[in-house]
Amino acid sequence: MPIRLLADDVVSQIAAGEVIERPASVVKELVENALDAGARAITLTIEGGGRGLIRVADDGQGIPAGEVELAFARHATSKLAVTDDLFALNTLGFRGEALAAIASVSRVHALTRARDESAGVQLRLEGGRVLERSALGAPPGTVISVSDLFFNVPARLKFLKSESAERSHITGLVARYALAYPHVRFKLSHDGRTVFQTHGTGDVREALVAAYGVEIAKSLIAVDSAADSAAPPPASEDDLDPLGAVVRERQADYGRPTVRVHGFISPPSLNRANRKDITLFANGRWIQDARLTAAVTQAYHTMLMVGRYPLAVLFIETPPAEVDVNVHPTKAEVRFRYAEAVFGSVERTVRRALTMNAPVPHLAPRQWQIYAPDPRPGDTPRLWSPDWFAAAPADSTPQPADPAAPVQPPLPHAVAIPLLRVIGQIGAAYIVAEGPDGLYLIDQHAAHERVLYEQFSVQHAAAQVVSQNLLHPMAVHVPAESAGLLEANLDLLNAIGFGVESFGANTFLVRALPTVLGQVDPARAVRVVIEDFEEDETPLADAVEQRLIARICKRAAIKAGQTLTPAEMTQLVMQLEQCRAPRTCPHGRPTMIHLSVEALERQFGRKG
Ligand code: ADP
Ligand code: MG
Repeated sequence: MPIRLLADDVVSQIAAGEVIERPASVVKELVENALDAGARAITLTIEGGGRGLIRVADDGQGIPAGEVELAFARHATSKLAVTDDLFALNTLGFRGEALAAIASVSRVHALTRARDESAGVQLRLEGGRVLERSALGAPPGTVISVSDLFFNVPARLKFLKSESAERSHITGLVARYALAYPHVRFKLSHDGRTVFQTHGTGDVREALVAAYGVEIAKSLIAVDSAADSAAPPPASEDDLDPLGAVVRERQADYGRPTVRVHGFISPPSLNRANRKDITLFANGRWIQDARLTAAVTQAYHTMLMVGRYPLAVLFIETPPAEVDVNVHPTKAEVRFRYAEAVFGSVERTVRRALTMNAPVPHLAPRQWQIYAPDPRPGDTPRLWSPDWFAAAPADSTPQPADPAAPVQPPLPHAVAIPLLRVIGQIGAAYIVAEGPDGLYLIDQHAAHERVLYEQFSVQHAAAQVVSQNLLHPMAVHVPAESAGLLEANLDLLNAIGFGVESFGANTFLVRALPTVLGQVDPARAVRVVIEDFEEDETPLADAVEQRLIARICKRAAIKAGQTLTPAEMTQLVMQLEQCRAPRTCPHGRPTMIHLSVEALERQFGRKG
């Protein structure tokens, strides 16, 4: 075939393919246009998962009658004039492509009236060509109706997911915009049924309830880096947050903090099997950013189990000059000028909120099941369950409240745990302790892991890891494929208190270990370290170190099945009390279960 210029409509369709991938892309572009037009209310009507109809109506400023056709032309925009404007944008649109792209792959009906004009204009297009134009009375604002999406691009149609998948995609998208624009009223209906609605009161919590339901919305934790820096944390906080300290230093280099991160995150107890519920906005624009998503998950590191992900809605704000939004036609990717500062700010803001909030998981009474101690040999263990008590003939005379009894102060909703009195050990795995507010069951392994992790981290952050020479240096062989990896990371290892050196073919000599680890087997410690390097996917060396420390502490901690003396238990509990995040182990499992006095009283029928 000879070289030819492509026909105009072919060019349009190819270009449209980049912007309009599926029904949700149409919704995104139309919603962004409505927001750019200053809409206070946006109403979306969807039929057939968006394939039948997508209608977006807004009460924004409308399109002047003389410009309506132009709005549907390619590269026509009212939001940008010169390239420099790209770095001073305060609109979501700027490419002037969306309406043209949508029109080229569907049938469009547009009705719009500019605020200062007396009548509206309606326009009908098909495959990008204008079929009809006429004046029509209409309230100020714009209604764009898109039907028969991809009617002229059968290949695209084949790639569409099921109607229900497209529906949920659209709902998710609208919900996210509603979160970012709480002052705008959103209403979304699918096939005649309203599925999502906010009132535009400016209250983000309302949008959260609409998006996630009351239960989840109530449990989310608000975060704000601006509030964090307004009240500087105690200096020691940096000890556990070397990453944050680094970023702050760099920000000092720029002369000012350039990023604000605020929004909502889930407590560790509320988590998901994938990253889909980590939602990020940059200057009001919904973005997809794998690195920043990793910053969020990394902040939960040691608090969530492997393979679980938090829910988060975070708004990142930077001066427009510091973010390049022109990276991809869908505008869903951006590039930050100070990417590392943004990464650090996200990570630190989330992390700080988490360590301030980690709550003790409360045992719901219904789940409270304890094996009877000392089952007779051969007996199947008898389950003690609260239901037994409920079924037993209850003594219905309630105990009169003792007016002289001291009122128990409620446990502050913060990191600390109260002082505990050790009662004993059960199953050679759990320490039973009493606090001012009830009973605590402490997982000895998880608790010790936490204690070691924090001691180690504090020493490490202060560059004061105490290490102890082995009496006899030990040669450790490693698989050939791992030797290079270990070799390359020897500096890192030695920086956290190991003394390891290369000792011939695939062999290393271990001379010293960090003292906090006590009596770990050096060969095992090295193996753990290698595993960690092999899994490495974190972008920052500090994070690798922290994770490494967590892994090593896990190996070094007291195991379940180990009988402890009262003195050992008391010491462990005291150390745990001094931890900054005593309620979870570094891998995210709870270290303790709390049975409040109130729950006990309820179970014994002393109280409603
Ligand atoms: P962009 O948003 O990048 O400018 P679009 O193709 O989405 O490009 O829109 C083209 C132009 O049409 C916009 O610049 C704007 O002037 C006008 N426009 C589109 N949608 C609306 C709307 N809902 N209300 C007012 N004006 C609109
Ligand atoms: Mg647009």
